[in-house]
Amino acid sequence: MKIGCPKEIKPQEFRVGMTPDAAREAVAAGHEVLIETKAGLGAGFTDDDYRAAGAAIVDTAEEIFARADMIVKVKEPQPVERKRLRPGQILFTYLHLAPDPEQTADLLASGATCIAYETVTDARGGLPLLAPMSEVAGRLAPQVGAWSLQKANGGRGVLLGGVPGVAPANVVIVGGGVVGTAAARVAVGMGARVTVLDRSVPRLSYLDDIFHGKLVTQYSSAAALAELARTADMVIGAVLIPGAAAPKLISRAQLRDMKPGAVLVDVAIDQGGCFETSRATTHQDPIYEVDGVLHYCVANMPGAVARTSTQALGNATMPFMLALANKGWKKACADDRHLLAGLNVHAGKLTYEAVGVALGLPS
Ligand code: NAD
Repeated sequence: MKIGCPKEIKPQEFRVGMTPDAAREAVAAGHEVLIETKAGLGAGFTDDDYRAAGAAIVDTAEEIFARADMIVKVKEPQPVERKRLRPGQILFTYLHLAPDPEQTADLLASGATCIAYETVTDARGGLPLLAPMSEVAGRLAPQVGAWSLQKANGGRGVLLGGVPGVAPANVVIVGGGVVGTAAARVAVGMGARVTVLDRSVPRLSYLDDIFHGKLVTQYSSAAALAELARTADMVIGAVLIPGAAAPKLISRAQLRDMKPGAVLVDVAIDQGGCFETSRATTHQDPIYEVDGVLHYCVANMPGAVARTSTQALGNATMPFMLALANKGWKKACADDRHLLAGLNVHAGKLTYEAVGVALGLPS
């Protein structure tokens, strides 16, 4: 099969759909890999890295789309890319169709077979192609929060780990899923005093087990969070209610009870944010202040570490990409119901029920 990987064209997207390692594996399995020139530069991969892996470098995205049987990307195809898709072609990338009727209409019109990273499942009920990005965002959250706490950035001037004789910072993490657990790992590692709240008691038990008393777990009631927020230096918002907007867990009125210069890192901003005063920001201008409390609300946090994110995503997508290439989409999906769960659009039909429900279309 010819596998094509164009350069990402969505603004501020530096990741790339295939790493040189993924290209090498595909070539070893007998496939032809076409990479658009400079596609990997944002993630630190040169054309020569791909050539060394056995891939061919192609000058334009048009040529990639025209020649490849399968397109492997990161972000949803942009309008110009959607026009280039053709019947029978496989598209393997993040799609997020539910809130995007225009993209859905274009993909249906294209006749292509579109498999969405975000709806591929695993045997434990998880989302294995979303989890790596949650890991990245979670591990980044205490890092960007610590930076925000520095005086020059408007913060309280508090060092997360303290020093001997000076208490460490209080970090409160709301939501102990993939993001929250990753954030806890780094915050604990930086020496902060960490409390994790969740609504799932089994999840709290799990965290209690794996952290061996290095953090405190607490059931997430409104009263518990209000109390903890008052003494927090950093609150990390990491909640998710699948398929729903994030609940607002800290109100504007509560900000006045917080320490001046404390920071809210709202990782859940891509689901609307879990603090009333959150609004999405960018890597260029990530922080703003409301009532003396800093807010960091970047909706695509993994983009800050494009190389790590590309490698993490590439590791997760590689087995599925190889299965699609080796077997063709029909057999690969027939053999693996978790990959089949990723099939959102095929030959002009919507094949994912939740997207159909969200957009009022038959599926
Ligand atoms: P997850 O499903 O693994 O974890 C979410 C956790 O929130 C669950 O354990 C759940 O029990 C808990 N929860 C739900 N309601 C709660 C409440 N009221 N109080 C406390 N806990 C509650 O999800 P995840 O992968 O960790 O993702 C968390 C959020 O981070 C999602 O909104 C996701 O979209 C977002 N995210 C953002 C970025 C970014 O760049 N900003 C990157 C990755 C993920």
